[in-house]
Amino acid sequence: MKVLVAEFSQESNSFCPTRTTLEDFRRYGITTGADYRESVRGIGIESEGIFTALEEYGISYAPVIRMRAQAGPITLPEVYNHFIESIDSAVRSQGPFDGAVLSLHGASQSTERDDVCGDIVEHVRSLLGPRAVISASYDLHANITRKIFDNSDFACGYLTYPHVDFRETGYRAGKMACMKLLKKKELHMSWCPVPMIEPASGYSTEKEPMATVVRKAKKMVSDGFIEDYSIFEMQPWLDVKEGGSAVVAIGSDPDVNAKCVQELAADMKAIRTQMSPKLFSFDEIIEAGEKNETGKPIICVDFSDSSNAGAAGDNSDVLARMLETGKNYDAAFIVVDGPAVDKAFEVGVGNTAKFSLGGTIDKVCSRPVTVEAKVKSLHDGDFKLEGPSRGLVRHLGTCALLGIGRIHILVTRTMASTGDPQLYRHFGVEPMLYKLVMVKANTSFYAGYGEICSSIMFTDTCCAATADLKGLPFRRLPRCFYPFSDIEDFDVKAHTLSK
Ligand SMILES: [Zn+2]
Repeated sequence: MKVLVAEFSQESNSFCPTRTTLEDFRRYGITTGADYRESVRGIGIESEGIFTALEEYGISYAPVIRMRAQAGPITLPEVYNHFIESIDSAVRSQGPFDGAVLSLHGASQSTERDDVCGDIVEHVRSLLGPRAVISASYDLHANITRKIFDNSDFACGYLTYPHVDFRETGYRAGKMACMKLLKKKELHMSWCPVPMIEPASGYSTEKEPMATVVRKAKKMVSDGFIEDYSIFEMQPWLDVKEGGSAVVAIGSDPDVNAKCVQELAADMKAIRTQMSPKLFSFDEIIEAGEKNETGKPIICVDFSDSSNAGAAGDNSDVLARMLETGKNYDAAFIVVDGPAVDKAFEVGVGNTAKFSLGGTIDKVCSRPVTVEAKVKSLHDGDFKLEGPSRGLVRHLGTCALLGIGRIHILVTRTMASTGDPQLYRHFGVEPMLYKLVMVKANTSFYAGYGEICSSIMFTDTCCAATADLKGLPFRRLPRCFYPFSDIEDFDVKAHTLSK
């Protein structure tokens, strides 16, 4: 018995003006075959969990390809094609396979395909046939479509937000596949889509109202009604024809699975109006930072410019406002601006020059601010994570730390793992020594900053990952969809499917 293993992961933001290329994936590192297996050892990601499960259950596997890129603009067709060619060639040269266990993101879009992961699962099904077992892991922010449900045996999503269970999710997907392949248990899956999206900064599995729903789902598992559950909140900056949140349950009794899914889907629908973040104005945040004498930083969260959610990371509106007010205290900012990094390298450490900061990528949402700043330090841009996926190295390309009096600005070429304090610490900015620290993330920052900050203040610079979903130019999502219209009449029973 042998299964195929592959990983494809990129969260697409339909409102980013640029495109994600195959080169962007190559920069992250594409690995194949035995290199793929080796590259994920000890780094706590989904593929590692998948391999562990297969090894524990004694099922042999062919690691085919691992492709991953930073969340960002929708992908070019070359990305999907590269992945599929690799799968096709593995099936030709190493098949036949009894199944496939995939590590997918679930919210990936290309210029040709709304549902890249659905198309991947459908393609793998067509290659392996109806009897093969196909299981996949997904991000909690996946768009679990009808195509995914129809073509896979199992879908397992992260159970945590902020996400800290990457490896565990892969393990669950691998374990479900093994149990079915080895006929240890008869397992079925139920699925109920819920036509709603929520700003990702407005909820967490750790906090109410979602925490109660999560507790109920966990109890369904611990009481033995089902084997596995996933509650998917589709990432809300995905403009696709078929999209939405969803609940999935896996267990031995299809009727029980369906009942559990319906109950959880009804709960998600019921809390839809309680999942938006409380926002502060720039001035409120700047003043709070000035008055902050706690010895711990206030975290200013600009989720709308979060590169984890696919935004460009090139907005500098809060910094611009702070300079405008004339306030100058220990504050740390971060902005993506490749040309400014180049200039800092030309200017050299210790020297001062005029810099234009921000607005180099997303020219619609971000405007540049001109500053006179000193080059404090220059870096190769590699840093190691301290939070979830501890030890994983991120590559930003070269970056520079600039200083305007007591204000420090980390200027990068790209951003990654923005919720991890090492993004600052590694480059000489210790967040604990600042009164105000700008973090461009939605919820991931809680893991790293939750314990070390004095308070968290959300603001919205209206970039590609804005919480103002009604203000975004959605063109493809269906009309009957929360928050664009109410879904009180949406019938979870009528929309639940079981197999
Ligand atoms: Zn996510």
